[in-house]
Order: sequence, then C-alpha cells, then structure tokens
Amino acid sequence: MTAVKEIKEKESLNFIEEIIEQDLNSGKHQIIHTRFPPEPNGYLHIGHAKSICLNFGIAQKYGGKTNLRFDDTNPTTESVEYVESIKRDVRWLGFDWEDREYYASDYFEQLYNMAVQLIKAGKAYVDDSTSEEMAALKGTPTVPGQPSPYRDRSVEENLDLFERMRNGEFSDGAKVLRAKIDITSPNMLLRDPVIYRIKHDHHHRTGDKWVIYPMYDFAHGQSDALEGITHSLCTLEFENHRPLYDWCIQELNIFPSRQIEFARLNVNYTITSKRKLLKLVQEGHVTGWDDPRMPTISGMRRRGYTPAAIRNFCDRIGIAKRENSIDISLLEFFVREDLNKIATRVMVVIDPVKLIITNYPDQQTENMSIENNPEDEQSGHREVPFSKELYIEYEDFMEEPPKKFFRLGPGLSVRLKGAYIVTCDSFEKDSKTGKITAIHCTYHPNSKSGEDTSGMKVKGTIHWVSVKDAVPVEVRMYDRLFTEENPGGHEDKDYLEFINPDSLKIIKKAFAEPSLAKTKVGAYYQFLRLGYFVTDLDSKGRKKKVFNRTVTLKDTWAKEQKK
Ligand code: ATP
Ligand code: MG
Repeated sequence: MTAVKEIKEKESLNFIEEIIEQDLNSGKHQIIHTRFPPEPNGYLHIGHAKSICLNFGIAQKYGGKTNLRFDDTNPTTESVEYVESIKRDVRWLGFDWEDREYYASDYFEQLYNMAVQLIKAGKAYVDDSTSEEMAALKGTPTVPGQPSPYRDRSVEENLDLFERMRNGEFSDGAKVLRAKIDITSPNMLLRDPVIYRIKHDHHHRTGDKWVIYPMYDFAHGQSDALEGITHSLCTLEFENHRPLYDWCIQELNIFPSRQIEFARLNVNYTITSKRKLLKLVQEGHVTGWDDPRMPTISGMRRRGYTPAAIRNFCDRIGIAKRENSIDISLLEFFVREDLNKIATRVMVVIDPVKLIITNYPDQQTENMSIENNPEDEQSGHREVPFSKELYIEYEDFMEEPPKKFFRLGPGLSVRLKGAYIVTCDSFEKDSKTGKITAIHCTYHPNSKSGEDTSGMKVKGTIHWVSVKDAVPVEVRMYDRLFTEENPGGHEDKDYLEFINPDSLKIIKKAFAEPSLAKTKVGAYYQFLRLGYFVTDLDSKGRKKKVFNRTVTLKDTWAKEQKK
C-alpha cells in the first residue's frame, strides 16, 4: 500500500492552493468562490471528475462555495438529458452545489446588454462579411490580420443592426457582432473575435426567445464575473483565451475573476473527448453513455467504480501545469482499494463442473457460516448451503496436474471454502470431447472449517456452489475498451481502429450462491478468486440477475497482453 502512504505524506500545496492562500492572506478575498462549468452537450467523463474534485475540493478546503453552472450557449448540441445526467453525476461523486445551480442562458439578457455597452463605447461592431471573408482577412499566426470593411461603422448603425439581429430580421450567418480589439495582435483570439452570432435554433431552456447567441468566449468569463467567482479554474487550452476574458472585464468594468489554468487529465487506454465518446455511442460501438466500458462517470458507476475511488484517484494525481497521461492501473488500484473495504465476499462459479461427494448423505444440507468481509468486522457472517453435489470452477481440476498445482486432481486434496477438505478419487470424461464432466471426491467429516481436527494439511482453497441451491446468473466480463495506450493520439489512424474486440464477454451460465438471488442494483461484491463485481441495472425486475466485472483482483492486464 505504498501509494496510500504517499498520499498521506503529500501535504504540500499545489500551485492553485498557493495562489488562493496568498489571496486569503493578503485580504484580496475573504471567501473563495469556484464553479464547475460544463457545457451540457454530452455526459461527464473522468477528466470532468478531475475538474469537479478540484473545484469543489478547493472550496471545501478553504470554507468557500462552488457553483454548478451550465455553459449552455450552443442550442444545437445541448439538451435537458445532458443537464440531468450532469447533475446526477456530480451528486453521485459526493458534491453539493446547494441552491447555486446556474445557467449561462439565464444571463442572456445581461450579456446582450454588455454587448450593447461595448458597441456604445465603440468597442464592438456588426460585420456582414461571410465567415470565409472574415477568415481570409484574419491572417495567420505569422501574418497580421486586416480590418474588415465594416469595422468603422458608426455606433448608431451598429446599435440599430444589433437590435435588428436580435429581432430576427437576418438569417443565420448573415451578420455577426465582433469585439473591436486588435486585428494585428499576435494572439489570434484578440483579432476582433466574434462575440454574437445569429442562430435560429430552439434552446432547451430559453426556447425560441433568442435568435442570437453569445459565443462561448463572451459568455464564460462574464458568467464568472456575474457570479463573483474568485478563482476560475480551467484547462490549459484556455490559456490564450485569458487576455480576451481580461479585456472584457476591463472594458465592461465587471468583477475580476482570476482565471488559472491546469493540465487536462488524460488516462491511457481511454479517451476523454466528448465528441469522440459521442461517436462511440451514436455508431453503436457501446450500448450507451453508461456502457460499463465508457470512461464516463455514468459508465464507471455502472461498472462498479465507487465515488470514493474516483475522488481518491483525483486527489492522488494532483494537478499539473503540463499535459501528461496517467496510467489507468492507478485508477484501478483505487477502485480495488475501496472495494476491498466494502465489497461483500460471495461465491460464484462461472465455468462450472460438478463435484460429487460420494460419502456425503444424499439429502443432507448443512449451512456453512461464511464471513461477509474479513476487512470489515461489522459485516458479520452469512449462511451458505452445502450439499452432496457442488459446482466448482472447471479450471480448478486437472487430470494430470503439474507439481505445484494446489487444487484438485486424481488423489489430490483441497479445502472447500468455509467447509470441508475433500480428496479426489475419480472423474468422468466425455470420450468425444475430452471434457471432464464430473469429479468424484470423499470428504473428511472432521475437517470442517473452524472446527478442524483432521490434522490434514492442504495448501489450496477453492470456491463452490451447492447444485440444488444454485442461482443461475449472467456475468459480464468487461475489459478495457481500447487495446492501444493512446488511442486518440494517432494522426494516420482513427481511434475506432483500436477498439478491443474482447472488451466484453458474456457468461450466461454461471451459478451463484443463493444470497445473490435478492441482490440490489449497484451492490458491490467480491466474487471469491474471480474479481470485484457489481449488480447491473439490467437485473431490475428480472429473475436472472446480471453482474458486471468491475476489476480483477490483481493487476494482471499488463501481463496478459505480453503473452
Ligand atoms: P467541449 O468544450 O469540447 O465540449 P470539454 O471536455 O471542455 O469539452 P466542458 O463541458 O466545457 O467540456 O468541461 C467542463 C469543465 O471540465 C471545464 O472547466 C473543462 O476545463 C473541464 N475539463 C474537461 N475535460 C477535462 C479533462 N480531461 N481534465 C480536466 N478537466 C477537464
Ligand atoms: Mg469546454
């Protein structure tokens, strides 16, 4: 558990905390106010989890507040479904925005007035150029831009045209409003950026009230200011947008939120781009945004990851100023660490073969008391029925076992978990297929777990399920969605080419101990010796329960890939 120790020891401040502590110490701010600002155009993913933990975590640490704000400025791609999913995910992660749920669209009137204010100050103008014409005049990073022929329109004309844009007199793309900053600036974003566009589109909140919409860059910074956000934390790609936000703050004389950039979280073997995730969903490569293979928060939830595991992971990786890629096994480490504490241990056989105890009474059933979780003293014990015929895993028997095989084979003995020691006397084999069809054993009545007086020494313990009590279940064995470390990072190859064809194997004929008949969706288990599992949504209202494999017990993936 070295990683855990490291977390405890790592108490030094990150660069954002340093800034915040300075601002508190200098008296610049008394209360820290952050926000998490998703655009509701997709489901949240592991990268957003990082941003959520950072924004809410910082405010918690310094006794401040965090707003949830939807930056909903593009009606075409946004929807209520996304808004709802985002709220569910933030809550599930364990964070509370209380009554501070805001929408950029609630500020449309104020943003419009700000644009008017800029026009009146001679700092914005209506441009009739087509987007191609504008692009042609904008120059390149090395070639300065040239002024648009509409740049010197009078304030009166601009006010009139902007109002008529709002009133719907013009078609989409016919005109835009641009900030009048510096067409030759080395920062392309300052070359008179478009701040309003015409879009005759239905908005999920404002309906058909507006036909002009502020650009993201004109809405984001001002929304922060309107909410009094002290520290506006965002990812590095916004670094060169900062001068534009600061320009707006100055020209409009509004609350000066300070933007601080940090590196995006990238995780190997996965992608964290909403656009690419959307494509996986739309093209049916996965069953939906919450497919357990998706790096979305809803996918991870369905996969059986816990909120604490994700939070611990985000804490542990900290924040960086440079882009890097985090190993997904680190996330899986935190998942195992949390599940080890809370998952109920149960027995499920996924590749069954029958074991018959020849000297056990035909009709007898004994209830074996088995601990629910050795890591949790409060978790108690449960009764698991034991009888003459059991299912065990096919691979726990070998006809010709090698020397160090501590499970079953002719003449070998093994402990049945929580029950007796058995010795194999014979087996049956299908002569056509060569498959083992039954294993015959004798049990040692004085070897019962907890009261063993047999004096026998066996090295192996295997899990089992009583045949007459067995509950048929479906088990979905999930694996990584991509076979390639950096699926999105190849110029000549599409990320879809790296989809792992074995990312899901469905086992329809597994058998579980009876306690799983009454499982609830979302319950966490360790299937002894097989891994961590969670009860899937598809179990709802169904007799046959479905379980998803969350993670293996150990990090075996890297090894398997090398084979
Ligand atoms: P896009 O803007 O292309 O739709 P996005 O991933 O930036 O995608 P937003 O909804 O704008 O999505 O993101 C909300 C917040 O989450 C932003 O502050 C953004 O900086 C942050 N965020 C997004 N992706 C990551 C990531 N991989 N790591 C850390 N923070 C992220
Ligand atoms: Mg974004």
